[in-house]
Amino acid sequence: MSRRVGVLALQGDVREHVRVLSELGADAVLVRRPDELASVSGLVIPGGESSVIDKLSRAFGMREPVRSAIASGMPVYGTCAGLILLADRITDGIVGQQTFGGLDVAVRRNAFGTQVDSFETDLAVPALGEPPVHAVFIRAPLVEQVGDGVEALAALDDGRVVAVRSGALMGTSFHPEVTGEHRFHELFLEMVRAA
Ligand code: GLN
Repeated sequence: MSRRVGVLALQGDVREHVRVLSELGADAVLVRRPDELASVSGLVIPGGESSVIDKLSRAFGMREPVRSAIASGMPVYGTCAGLILLADRITDGIVGQQTFGGLDVAVRRNAFGTQVDSFETDLAVPALGEPPVHAVFIRAPLVEQVGDGVEALAALDDGRVVAVRSGALMGTSFHPEVTGEHRFHELFLEMVRAA
C-alpha cells in the first residue's frame, strides 16, 4: 500500500500538515485537482476557513471527487475547519455553506467566540496514551452531537467533545500540526495503511 497522502491545498495551514506528515516518513503531496486526489491513499483537510475551503472546492471541481473519495472509504483527517468540512451537520455556517460530510456529527462553527477567545489546554486522549495532548484552539468548532458509531477521542473538562473518529474519518477541533504533536497524524497514517 502506497504511503502517499495528500493535503487539500485550497486554503489554510497546508504547509504545517505537509511538514508533520513528511517528518513521519509519508510522501505528502498537495491536492488541488481531481487527478491529484486520485493519486493519494489518504487526505488531510487543514485548518483555515471552512466557508472558503467549501467555496473553492466547488470552484475547483473538487467537491464531488472529495465526497466520492470519502464514500469509497478513503481515510481523511480534518483539523478545525477540516473537521467542519467532514461534519454531516453544521450550526452557524455562513449562508449557503456546505460540507463534504461523512462524519455523523453536528458541529458548531466558532463555538468559543472570535479570535480573542482562542486558547490552549492539555487534553487527555486515551487513544494516544500519555502524555496529554497540548491542544491549540483557534476560532474552533465544537462537536455538539455525536452519532451512533462515532467515537469521541477527546473532550474538554466540562465534557464537550473536541475530537472524533468514525471508520476512516477523524477530526479534531484543535491543531496538532502547529504544536509539534505528531500522534494524531501517526494514527491517521495507520488508518491509511489499514485501509
Ligand atoms: N472558524 C473557522 C471556520 O469556520 C475554523 C478556524 C480554524 O480552522 N482554525 O472554518
